[in-house]
Amino acid sequence: MVDTDITISTMDDQLVLDLAATIRHDGHGGVADDLNTPAGLTRWLRERPEDSAVSRAVDIRRYTADEEALRAVREVRTAARALFARAVAPGPPSRADAGRLPAAGTALDVLAAAAARVPTVPRLLWPADGQPVVVREWLTGAAESGPAERGPVERGVAEAGQGPGPADRLAAVLAEAAMAFLAGPGRELLRACPAPRCVRYFVKEHPRQEWCKPSCGNRARVARHHARRRAVPPEGGAGG
Ligand SMILES: [Zn+2]
Repeated sequence: MVDTDITISTMDDQLVLDLAATIRHDGHGGVADDLNTPAGLTRWLRERPEDSAVSRAVDIRRYTADEEALRAVREVRTAARALFARAVAPGPPSRADAGRLPAAGTALDVLAAAAARVPTVPRLLWPADGQPVVVREWLTGAAESGPAERGPVERGVAEAGQGPGPADRLAAVLAEAAMAFLAGPGRELLRACPAPRCVRYFVKEHPRQEWCKPSCGNRARVARHHARRRAVPPEGGAGG
């Protein structure tokens, strides 16, 4: 059976799930981390869709991540996974990091601090021929140099060397996306996949969905089948 990608309500929700999923089953019974090195972060960013929220932070097709950006993104990921573990309770959390995540209060503080690395203000856009819409703009200028320079968050990337750096901007957009997801309808549908070896969080798309992907369902059924066979004494005959 072919694995199908999970599609959920918003791009930002998908971004947060994708970030959490960088800690994943390695295919050999262990856990792999796609964000172990700056190169891993660079690769992950390049794999995001063009209109992903991270493209508001950096030019995802050309940006090369450094240690500082890696640290910032991993911090947000740890906080998000800690809050994912809280969201799925009383169900079991992902086995990948259960027991070594920060407390929920600490995780919430980490997200708040990350979002605050790039202060934003609301701005109403109202084109003559369109509907009014509120966008968030970055405040990138220094206070003493007069009015703050503003770069619309929704449109383009701040100039290099001006205002918050890439690590700040990545942390801020990922933290905001995590906050929006956790405060939105996806949180109640979040589950840790119970399939053997899988460590993935997913959002249930229909009430009977048990696994993150059909392949996990297949693996779980095979495991249950073998467990039943082992439970039968060899000379018992039942189930052959
Ligand atoms: Zn799974």
